[in-house]
Amino acid sequence: MPLSPEQIREIEDQRSTPQPTLRAVSPGMEKHLYTAHEVLDHGFVRVIDYMGDDAAICQAARVSYGKGTKSVQNDEGLIRYLMRHWHSTPFEMCEIKLHVKLPVFVARQWIRHRTANVNEYSARYSILDREFYIPAPEHIAAQSVVNNQGRGATLEGEEAARVLEILKADSNRCYDNYEAMISDEGQQGLARELARMNLPANVYTQWYWKVDLHNLFHFLRLRADHHAQYEIRVYADAICNIVADWVPAAYGAFEDYRLGGANLSGRAMDCVRRMLKGEEVTQETSGMSKGEWREFEAELRG
Ligand SMILES: Cc1cc2nc3c(=O)[nH]c(=O)nc-3n(C[C@H](O)[C@H](O)[C@H](O)COP(=O)(O)OP(=O)(O)OC[C@H]3O[C@@H](n4cnc5c(N)ncnc54)[C@H](O)[C@@H]3O)c2cc1C
Repeated sequence: MPLSPEQIREIEDQRSTPQPTLRAVSPGMEKHLYTAHEVLDHGFVRVIDYMGDDAAICQAARVSYGKGTKSVQNDEGLIRYLMRHWHSTPFEMCEIKLHVKLPVFVARQWIRHRTANVNEYSARYSILDREFYIPAPEHIAAQSVVNNQGRGATLEGEEAARVLEILKADSNRCYDNYEAMISDEGQQGLARELARMNLPANVYTQWYWKVDLHNLFHFLRLRADHHAQYEIRVYADAICNIVADWVPAAYGAFEDYRLGGANLSGRAMDCVRRMLKGEEVTQETSGMSKGEWREFEAELRG
């Protein structure tokens, strides 16, 4: 279970004491504040705080004295223009602070996004919980034969059961030893900062993660993409749902130009032009490598 009854009570307390404010408020985001959205078997994402809304992006773009809003249609048009032309700084005026609980191997991928502020749960100071990510059976898959960085067909039957058994047994054995090392029957026990090194990468950690909307979109473009590993993609998907409610116009533009759009090289654009003129272009006549051509075809097929 991602949250204990005590943590749920704390969150309910926070949600039951609204405060008046002159700041911009996004009605869509208010419903997400403090609420934990469950991800994987023990993880979650919850919004701790945010700054700005769609109007704040327009306000910054127009450097205006008032709200910066002209009309919803006008604002949406401006936001789409900014997104289309990579005019990114107005998006940096919005910020979000998340509390995330995630397996350590996912955290290692996540932390590569350097343009955020992070504060992680200290396993030097505190004792980690006995919580490990164990994939659901449908996510136990074989190594991909076409992509060295991915997974292929789902493992079935005995093979899947054997993998699950190993994952569970190793996780529990490591945790038993972790506990034994830190509480050495009346003795002081091993320091937590040392005992933790024996825990596997599927143990859960937690952090507060604050980022501006421009850099969040960069994170989401890379991690909500099908090339990203499933276990980080589900976090990105949960955040996408939150952002869609927070800044609907900006998210709509992001979805259209970044998630749904494609980057084409000069050679690819040349092929598109030739195709539009009726020429039958093949990989051999495209000037592209086999890999590039495969990806180009996949983009065109959608
Ligand atoms: C599908 C996938 C596979 C990956 N595989 C690997 C892998 O095998 N091995 C591996 O090591 N990583 C891997 N990565 C991580 C990847 O290389 C990036 O580190 C990660 O996506 C963060 O991207 P970023 O640096 O653009 O983001 P951020 O750190 O958020 O930076 C955003 C932008 O700010 C600028 N920036 C920030 N900090 C600096 C800096 N110090 N110097 C210069 N410019 C900076 C850059 O323009 C950067 O694009 C993978 C990522 C993905 C999505």
